[in-house]
Amino acid sequence: MNTRNLRFRSNRVRDILALFHEELDGLYGGSEVGVFLDMLFEAFLGWNKVRLLTSKETTVDQSDLLRFHWALEDLKKNRPIQHIIGYTDFCDCHIAVSPDVLIPRPETEEMVNWILSTFHFPLSTFHFLDLCTGSGCIAIALNKRFPAADVTAVDVSEKALAMARENAQANDTDIRFLQADLLDPQFSIFNFQFSIIISNPPYVRDSERSQMQRNVLDYDPALALFVPDDDPLRFYRAIAAIAKEHLAHDGLLVVEINEALADETAALLRSYGFLPEVHTDFRGKARWISAQFKNHISQ
Ligand code: GLN
Repeated sequence: MNTRNLRFRSNRVRDILALFHEELDGLYGGSEVGVFLDMLFEAFLGWNKVRLLTSKETTVDQSDLLRFHWALEDLKKNRPIQHIIGYTDFCDCHIAVSPDVLIPRPETEEMVNWILSTFHFPLSTFHFLDLCTGSGCIAIALNKRFPAADVTAVDVSEKALAMARENAQANDTDIRFLQADLLDPQFSIFNFQFSIIISNPPYVRDSERSQMQRNVLDYDPALALFVPDDDPLRFYRAIAAIAKEHLAHDGLLVVEINEALADETAALLRSYGFLPEVHTDFRGKARWISAQFKNHISQ
């Protein structure tokens, strides 16, 4: 190994790009590797895509070359790019991530964007509730867009809440975080009437582990993902019960779902008095359900 240039032919940008593609295209495909490179150059050097495209003959200094070297080694081990750079972008918010929180997914971003573009709220105070907040991304994106809202976010994991608090602060939002387990029969929440109750709870059945990618299985927290096969909707039952009691009569319940369980999840919500509507994500999969009280809609 050439210790000066590590395994790169030189410390020119062109050679960094070449080695990444040589070593990773087989694993991820060339366009995905291109996305990783855009993200790494942005994170390490503050370069945008245009700067990268027009700077192929530029050389990077030795300490930056070393960072690219370790990023390449990590990517070969399926470490998520978001863990390597330490953050992801979600609805124009910068969200720090770690192995303690689920990396926010583009499907979840699509669900939140749907709410942001579909609903208009009065300026007076209204309450939002985000259950299983993880990194805090959903609560933060909603609060950023509706700064007058009073936002409460709940998670069972103290470590996730620590990250969510940091993210809320870094994004200039003011969110009330609560540590609580939705599945605990003692679970209770203040007596607000929430305009929005939203959740992306664990919904991947244990038996679906075998279809999941290594980067998810090895690096995302299992606590945020998996539910037992014999009761895969346990979180939705808890959420529906909370919503039945705490959703304003004209409020909106929004839940991300397992695409294989859309019908069952909709039926469950119907049995709690909601009128569910299933939404399809950009991959063509049933991905979230919005619901209002049936008697509100039929009035
Ligand atoms: N969509 C996520 C995944 O496939 C799962 C999110 C969840 O369980 N809430 O990794």
